[in-house]
Amino acid sequence: MTMCTTEWNRREFLRTAAVAGTAVAGTQALAAPGAAHAERRTAAGSGEKVALTNARVFDGGALGAPRTVVIDNGLIGVSAFGARTIDCRGAILLPGLIDAHIHIEDVNTLERLAGYGVTTGLDMACFPPSLFNSLRRRPGLTDIRSAGTPAVAPGSRQSQIPTFPPSGIVAGPEQALQFVTTRISEGSDYIKLIVDVPGLDRATLNALTKAAHAFRKLVMAHATSVATVEEALLAGVDMIHHVPMDTALTSATAARYASGGQVAVPTLTMMEGFAGLGIPGLSYAAAEGSVAALRQAGARILAGTDSNHTPGIPVQPAFGLSMHHELELLVQAGLTTVEALRAATSLPAQSFGLRDRGVIRPGYRADLLLVDGDPIADIRATRNIRRVWIGGAEYPPAA
Ligand SMILES: [Zn+2]
Repeated sequence: MTMCTTEWNRREFLRTAAVAGTAVAGTQALAAPGAAHAERRTAAGSGEKVALTNARVFDGGALGAPRTVVIDNGLIGVSAFGARTIDCRGAILLPGLIDAHIHIEDVNTLERLAGYGVTTGLDMACFPPSLFNSLRRRPGLTDIRSAGTPAVAPGSRQSQIPTFPPSGIVAGPEQALQFVTTRISEGSDYIKLIVDVPGLDRATLNALTKAAHAFRKLVMAHATSVATVEEALLAGVDMIHHVPMDTALTSATAARYASGGQVAVPTLTMMEGFAGLGIPGLSYAAAEGSVAALRQAGARILAGTDSNHTPGIPVQPAFGLSMHHELELLVQAGLTTVEALRAATSLPAQSFGLRDRGVIRPGYRADLLLVDGDPIADIRATRNIRRVWIGGAEYPPAA
């Protein structure tokens, strides 16, 4: 059977994009920190003391009885003395959501995340470094971490993206240390490896993981097939992003995640999007079955969306909004609603070493989301956003 070159290229691109996944943020112009978002930030500045009374609190672990939560100087406080009071009237207060897989684009990325209660965004490929570094530590906006440039194999699809930094191409194990030290010098918070077939070979994956761990950096692997997941597990990476779409993970492979303490970030929203393109061999049922196997095995699962706005990527989940969809998909795949909420709050905070967030407890960042309805009964209630706070500063919910 023959296929014209253009058609082959398109299909091959879609196939490899599905395998490669995922958006790699390009070189979009840096957006100025516009006045608009500064003006839209309202009410409680990070210094104001506010008492949220009559809130039913999901503290990152479980839902408790109604109580008062104090926001004091950007953190969860202890005493309500002297605080302005906001009566939550029994609404549910959640820790701000953490999206464990996004691709940072510009300041609008942060604003959209913030409006949907995603108060921390963990980028999984973004360049140049000046882009993500310029978007760090914006008071009152979503807080980010970034992988920066991922490691890819010579000749891989990613390496052919015109804006892809040459320093991300790793030809062999002898280049692993240089790759890792370059990322660290650029400000990468963790190291991302693209595991693909063909792609970085086993020796190179091992060397990259070892070098990153020597610098106490977490290692993220991109893997979208059973074979690449096996390679990532063997290399000893810390987290595996996406889940196989060829066939579902077996219980034996899922058990290896759990026994090795390796964390899964399924990005079901992205997998669903790719399955919807009708590409042969890509099955959403396999992705969902993989999540079910991981949960059954007791592996840690985090919520991540792969939100991106990267030219050429055929699936672009919306920043912020898609996090609520991801929670819904995780529940459909077998997680309880409480497990899904943990996957978006306390668990990513623990897994990424973000020790100041992810729970509602005195001394932690006042990253909070107040929702109407009961997401424990129906996960879709997380969309009913009444108010959002980031580091104690209130942010207007998305319309
Ligand atoms: Zn991605």
